[in-house]
Amino acid sequence: MSIENHAAIHWDHALIKKYDVSGPRYTSYPTANLFHDDFAHEQYMQVATNEKSSIAPISLYIHIPFCENICYYCACNKVVTRDKSKAREYLEHLKKEIALRGEIHANRPVTQLHFGGGTPTFLSTSELTELMVSLGRHFNLSTADSREYSIELDPRTVDDEYISLLKGLGFNRVSLGIQDFHPPVQKAINREQSVDMVQDLLKSIRQYRFDSISFDLIYGLPHQSVASFTQTLATVIALNPDRLSVYNYAHLPERFKTQRSIDRLTLPTGQEKLAIMEHIGNTLTDAGYEYIGMDHFVKPDDELAKARFNGRLQRNFQGYSTCLATDLIGLGSSSITSFSDTYSQNSKDLTEYYRLVNSGKLPIVKGYPLTVKNTLHREIIMSLACRLALNIQDIELLFSIKFDEEFNYLMPRLSEFEEDGLIELSDALITVTDTGRLMLRQICMVFDEYLSKNNAGGTKFSKAM
Ligand code: SF4
Repeated sequence: MSIENHAAIHWDHALIKKYDVSGPRYTSYPTANLFHDDFAHEQYMQVATNEKSSIAPISLYIHIPFCENICYYCACNKVVTRDKSKAREYLEHLKKEIALRGEIHANRPVTQLHFGGGTPTFLSTSELTELMVSLGRHFNLSTADSREYSIELDPRTVDDEYISLLKGLGFNRVSLGIQDFHPPVQKAINREQSVDMVQDLLKSIRQYRFDSISFDLIYGLPHQSVASFTQTLATVIALNPDRLSVYNYAHLPERFKTQRSIDRLTLPTGQEKLAIMEHIGNTLTDAGYEYIGMDHFVKPDDELAKARFNGRLQRNFQGYSTCLATDLIGLGSSSITSFSDTYSQNSKDLTEYYRLVNSGKLPIVKGYPLTVKNTLHREIIMSLACRLALNIQDIELLFSIKFDEEFNYLMPRLSEFEEDGLIELSDALITVTDTGRLMLRQICMVFDEYLSKNNAGGTKFSKAM
């Protein structure tokens, strides 16, 4: 199903306030907090019984958990260390997991590959080469131009030599953690990287002709204001990335210890955050970027914009992606796999991760096998999140249901959304409006079986705004 292309975001402050509740970003459904420890190596192997004969494309995600420095806002799974020998120990165990997974999925062409962390470039050039050789030995890595092989870069850790190696190893996409260029903000979050440093790095990246450059920005950080972010946005636009992910900083010092280093009195208020967010949306769309939903802006000719236009956008643990493969295999500590109507997660604890792979087992410690009902709700949530629409007839045919009967209990909520102008409802279609695009999480949350009736996600999830 194709959808209309939208450029504008419609800001209605009263509605944004009304629907400002905590909620998941739906990188999976059900969400990861529901994974349970009854799902491990044995359950995964049962699901994979016929896998060896499969030749359907797959995605790989490789997690490198180490960082040399701590960024105070960080809520990722990482190990902060300057001891480079940790990388060697990790690599030896990761290669064992690669061999185990490769035995199961070796025949499937890897059309998408993503290195995340932590800091993937904590690995030296020779370690990264060794890792790619191992992946190439055990998986069917694609060499097609259409492949999407990406890596997250910390601008403070890479130079021209590293970039040339990435190109040589087959990476064609990079994403850079920028967050904010304003020096007082960078100091307060303990992540200082100058515009000149990023500019030089981009020069290298462009010289080696990577297909796509993506930036991560964060709003809601200490000392940020509309005025300070205006300068950051001007610099960002001049640097001309193809994609931007703009995340909301959720200050949860009781959950994330390192956030305790941030003085809460320096954080922008809710009102200021909303003003910054509106400013970001307007500035980026005025500069020609398209808002594809849930934090992501892309150039109109970017693959993600085309995928959304053609109804081939999907969400996974990295956010939005093009639908080159439906199964995603996660490798490394804490990685999540989405495979054949199951989710599974590797141990976050390095000692346990090492112990499991040494015993010849996949290092899975929890997971979730989806029920048919889960897959129905997932299909609906992903359709709304990716296509901004739901084709009711398609869903009825796919799941042999009568939509009105199945979701009768949701009609008052959907009608309220319609009255508030967030969606348009017809017998055939639910369409998210320009106003509703900012409340996309809240619209999806209605179809989440596991949230309470008032749709509040509690403190498990960050606020959508
Ligand atoms: S934000 Fe990235 S680089 Fe900074 S500590 Fe977290 S994982 Fe490491």
